[in-house]
Amino acid sequence: MNDFHTQLQKYAELIIKIGLNVQKNDEITISIAIDQVEFAHLLIEQAYLAGARNVIMQWQDDQKRRLDLTYQSEKELAQIKPYREDLQLYIANNRVKRLSVLSSDPDVLIGIDPRKIAATQKLNSSGTQAVKTATENNLLSWTVVAAASPAWAKKVFPNENKQTGTMHLWQAIFAATRIDNADPVAAWQIQKQKLITKAAMLNQYQFDRLHYLAPGTDLTIGLPKHHVWEAAGATNEHGDEFIPNMPTEEVFTAPDANRIDGHIRATKPLSYAGTILTGISFTFKNGRVVKADADQGLSTLKHLLKTDAGASRLGEVALVPDLSPISQSGLTFFNTLFDENASNHLALGAAYPFSVAGGTEMNQLQLQVAGLNVSQIHVDFMVGSAKMAIDGITTNDEVVPIFRNGDWV
Ligand code: ZN
Ligand code: ZN
Repeated sequence: MNDFHTQLQKYAELIIKIGLNVQKNDEITISIAIDQVEFAHLLIEQAYLAGARNVIMQWQDDQKRRLDLTYQSEKELAQIKPYREDLQLYIANNRVKRLSVLSSDPDVLIGIDPRKIAATQKLNSSGTQAVKTATENNLLSWTVVAAASPAWAKKVFPNENKQTGTMHLWQAIFAATRIDNADPVAAWQIQKQKLITKAAMLNQYQFDRLHYLAPGTDLTIGLPKHHVWEAAGATNEHGDEFIPNMPTEEVFTAPDANRIDGHIRATKPLSYAGTILTGISFTFKNGRVVKADADQGLSTLKHLLKTDAGASRLGEVALVPDLSPISQSGLTFFNTLFDENASNHLALGAAYPFSVAGGTEMNQLQLQVAGLNVSQIHVDFMVGSAKMAIDGITTNDEVVPIFRNGDWV
């Protein structure tokens, strides 16, 4: 138990110092579930020790969310209240550093009307829009991490009791975030450097397109001119470094939203909006999904694709070796933060503007002209496996192997 407390403490410290990189006089906001109060207090204390002047809490409550979705009308759900709008505007305008701690039960919204879920996912207000823009453009620092909860652990370790399952999930989180290391901060610096080197190499090639081949998959993904591969670290508008996702194993860019053709099969279940989608496959033509299938959750998937015009196009292409520590754990986490860092993935919906040179200075129309997808949604799905091969193809049709048997060449 003592050992666990020490690890939790190290985790909180790593998140605040390396993830969010809290500086003197920063204001930060933490979004975390009400049943993670012990961990929340550690994070708050680390933030103050790092010099934060204020911590704004945004407590999350899965059961309240479920009750709201059950009893509120679609119209009520689609509205944002002025007091929430004000908080969002405050966070965006004051560049408050954002920490999100994920621990939800992946099944929390099972059985809820997909139309109601779609209504809340589509919530569009100037406040949420401002936070979204400030986050996507890295104007403010933001970090997403995870915490183990009994309900989530039940999904990952169905045969274990509540307590051992939760402890196992915590251990898996600690392993994936390198907390087991004698010096997690140093281990993170090494990992960051490794990923940055891969990204620099891909940026030099400036491939015209990528070709994915695997069982159930034969897909060509065009890349926009002047695309930028990014990895691990980011820098906010004041020059403070931060790490958006912990764990992170990916190197990613944006595809050309109009040049994706062929078919692809997902290799892991997708936890989306409180439901689990399995056996997903897509056929693309000129960048758009023309056929979608799923063994479970097909109606949720169809609603998702209809969210807006960009929801049926891709906004992210990410490379993750099948040998990543998360992949090697052999676990399916039913949580995108972990599963996407175990596997090559793609995302339906919005591209990150920084994925193309000068993108953060562009408006939506200019981004679209540059080939980047624009949408309210961004949903990652996993396609990687030990059987995947990826080639980079240059504008002169020169073929360069990038991945073989699920790993970097
Ligand atoms: Zn990604
Ligand atoms: Zn993504």
